[in-house]
Amino acid sequence: MSQAKERPILFSAPMVRAILEGRKTVTRRPVKGGQIPRLEYPDSPEPWVAVGQHHPRYGFVVHGRTEQECAVKVGELGACPFGEPGDRLWVREAWTADAQLDGISPRNLSQGEPILYQADGSVRQTGCAMISQGRGRPSIHMPRWASRILLEITAVRVERLQDISEDQAEAEGVGFLRHIPDADETLTAAQLFECLWSSINGDESWSSNPWVWVVEFKAIDTDPAGCDYHGSHFGALYPDAQCVDGFLWDEDSCDVPGGPLMSGGDIPCPKCNAGAYTEHQREANQ
Ligand SMILES: [Zn+2]
Repeated sequence: MSQAKERPILFSAPMVRAILEGRKTVTRRPVKGGQIPRLEYPDSPEPWVAVGQHHPRYGFVVHGRTEQECAVKVGELGACPFGEPGDRLWVREAWTADAQLDGISPRNLSQGEPILYQADGSVRQTGCAMISQGRGRPSIHMPRWASRILLEITAVRVERLQDISEDQAEAEGVGFLRHIPDADETLTAAQLFECLWSSINGDESWSSNPWVWVVEFKAIDTDPAGCDYHGSHFGALYPDAQCVDGFLWDEDSCDVPGGPLMSGGDIPCPKCNAGAYTEHQREANQ
């Protein structure tokens, strides 16, 4: 079995809210490039081919007697660019740091900075409080440490966009469209999904009925209140580390009692982030 991997994925504000409310458990993304089945060998018993890829440099050819069979095999052979079942996706969403940091690029922000999530306006405090809300920052620039939503992939497959069922459309999180002003109450979930898809990708993208990756997922609890881990990790003989969102912070790096923790965030928590911790220890011992 291959090792579980972690990749970023972008979601819009309505989709972030749907995930947080448990109404979104699947996303569809276009199949791209060589992974789209094409008729390559018309005279062969398996005329349809597509390229699968597990490694950035080495691909493999997937054959099929029909276009459908070829597409299904692309999904089954684990070539999904978003990952395989068991892999994790960390969500990038629109965010804001404190106004006094507006000139600082994301990579230079301290990992202890509070983050405001634009989708629902909630603020994650890690010791220090947000004093005034800064400029909006696009989801693509969200660093890993600022992400608050972690998903585990439960299934992937390839299918035609328009093959979506009512249940699947509902699981895409389309429900919010029923609550916008002048919403058409007669639309089915699949029709709402069509509206949503077209608004993002264009009408043409819906009518062309492309092959899509269907990525099903479940949210993993990363609530800091859910982990009470304390241990000795920063050189002290007593427990000097506490877990914040799955990573350890040095309790001695605090200027005032109860104040912000100034250093940490690099060591995964052995309790709630055990897989990453093991990997971190292995690298540290090399
Ligand atoms: Zn923890």
